[in-house]
Amino acid sequence: PAAQLAGRLDDPAPLLIVGFQGMRDFYPTLAAHHLAQTGIRARAVYLPYDLISGRRDANNVHLAQELEAPAHRQVLAHALRGVAAPGERIGLPAILGIDQHAAVWRELEAAAGAPIFEIPTLPPSVPGIRLHRALVRQIETHGGRVESNMAVTNFAGAGDRIAWVETATSARPLRHHAKAFLLATGGILGGGFESNPSGHVWETIFDLPLTVPQGREHWFRPAFLDPQGHPVYQGGVQTGADFRPGLDGAPRYANLWAAGSVLAHADPIRERSREGLAVASAAGAVQAILAHLGHPAALSTSSPAGQPAG
Ligand SMILES: Cc1cc2nc3c(=O)[nH]c(=O)nc-3n(C[C@H](O)[C@H](O)[C@H](O)COP(=O)(O)OP(=O)(O)OC[C@H]3O[C@@H](n4cnc5c(N)ncnc54)[C@H](O)[C@@H]3O)c2cc1C
Repeated sequence: PAAQLAGRLDDPAPLLIVGFQGMRDFYPTLAAHHLAQTGIRARAVYLPYDLISGRRDANNVHLAQELEAPAHRQVLAHALRGVAAPGERIGLPAILGIDQHAAVWRELEAAAGAPIFEIPTLPPSVPGIRLHRALVRQIETHGGRVESNMAVTNFAGAGDRIAWVETATSARPLRHHAKAFLLATGGILGGGFESNPSGHVWETIFDLPLTVPQGREHWFRPAFLDPQGHPVYQGGVQTGADFRPGLDGAPRYANLWAAGSVLAHADPIRERSREGLAVASAAGAVQAILAHLGHPAALSTSSPAGQPAG
């Protein structure tokens, strides 16, 4: 994000990490100490909490909303001018506005007279909320619709295709028809797989075959830190190169794709690839869907998934 660029560690300018007394989960002294240990010039300052909020127990989202008020920004900018030494870059917790983030950040930077960068915080993460809202806006701008909190409870197949899925509502189940369906229910942690005490693991919507061992005694290797990892974390929905689920290379349904943590043959925690796997496989699956639908936005099939042809 643009508001994090001024914090680049290959920039030799010294860092001033600024926190607020009483703010939860943001410790500038600790951050500056760790930076200094790696040879980076950094120091920390605490400012009074009531500079940014009159609330006694605000979370990061509340604080970001408060900084959208120009009066709060001016008070903070004045305080930053008072503590920053010439040539220092200022690191603040990521609370510089939500809907008006760009304006809040740039105005604060201009008024404080120093480059300002944000440091992501523990949840609730304001940069994450901004990103989510931007993605939803993009989808809606392109004619899409995002429905949250609607659990898929049923589906119907028609020949080799999924005809519809049904979601729970407060009144009666709602049917959704589509040309293509992308399963991204997150595996065990996301709720896409369930298990019972005997060790049977199943995919909750389409009951797709899983490569997870169907017996608790086969889930784990004896050594906790076995370099090969544990089979239960490596199992999931097996797909072909086009991300369509199917155990033997043949797609189980012609119009069903899968992406993210549901996928088999990865060990995302051990690989530290979790979010990367989710984003890259989603891009690959969407490309495969576009190609299947003959959509003009589909990339050439001669280029690897996710890379523009030419
Ligand atoms: C606190 C936390 C911190 C993390 N930090 C990092 C990090 O720093 N780096 C990193 O790489 N990864 C991190 N991860 C992991 C990363 O968020 C996941 O790997 C990634 O979100 C997986 O994406 P996904 O889309 O496959 O599944 P998920 O993000 O799990 O999404 C699955 C979605 O499907 C929904 N769903 C499930 N069943 C149904 C159903 N029947 N009907 C409708 N919806 C359904 C779930 O509600 C959920 O919204 C973190 C995860 C957590 C929880």
